[in-house]
Amino acid sequence: MTKIHFVKKQSDIIRNIEKLYEYLASSDKTLSDFAFNLMKRGRAYVAYYDDNCDEWLLAPSRFVGYKNNDYKKHKMNDEKSGTRTSKKIDEILKCGYKTNKKLEFLLKTIFEVPSYKEAKLHFWILGDDRKLDKQTMEEQAQKYIEQKKLKEHIFYEGRISGKKRKKIIEQLGTTCEACGRKMEEIYGEIGRGYIELHHLKPFCNLDIGKERVVTPSDFAVLCPNCHKMIHKTNETSDIKKFKKRIKKSV
Ligand SMILES: [Zn+2]
Ligand SMILES: [Zn+2]
Repeated sequence: MTKIHFVKKQSDIIRNIEKLYEYLASSDKTLSDFAFNLMKRGRAYVAYYDDNCDEWLLAPSRFVGYKNNDYKKHKMNDEKSGTRTSKKIDEILKCGYKTNKKLEFLLKTIFEVPSYKEAKLHFWILGDDRKLDKQTMEEQAQKYIEQKKLKEHIFYEGRISGKKRKKIIEQLGTTCEACGRKMEEIYGEIGRGYIELHHLKPFCNLDIGKERVVTPSDFAVLCPNCHKMIHKTNETSDIKKFKKRIKKSV
């Protein structure tokens, strides 16, 4: 069995935080759910301001405190001691953790941390304190909510595959219902027959079971550009309205 070590320096901590964010963005649902649940269940977090993306990254000490941590190691690690990792993180960052209303807000909005826990959350702040302003937090929270909604939607659309997908495309064709183009007109042979299914009722709002039984009339076929763009609007179910946005010159 591999021995599990604690982090030794600041870069070890940052590496682990970035690992969790890599999981959060992963299309592998096991990994993204794992990271999401970890985020939700923490008590003490390292908050690291990433200058490249201009945003705060948060990760719980129970994950961050072990060197080169990952999904497998975390699952194997029977200890996962908040007390011991907190001590190590204190030593490296040379600052204690503290409460912070704005980071609490961010955590609660993005990771759906239950409100009753808020008062018990603590943060080590690794970054410029001046970036802990309300606007930065609100913008970041909003961005994540949109990304999450889009990811869930695309995940469910992607699950419509095989015979079912073929049947829907046979009925709806491969011409984008919004811009009216076929992918082969732009990309030649590699684009032949390529089209994306867009579900007109967002899956995340439907109950599991009967409501999620799909029929071709629940879908529109869209090219990747139009598909991405329609999700930037508030009317993802209204293709007619979306069409009006498209400039004729394209
Ligand atoms: Zn299109
Ligand atoms: Zn869609």
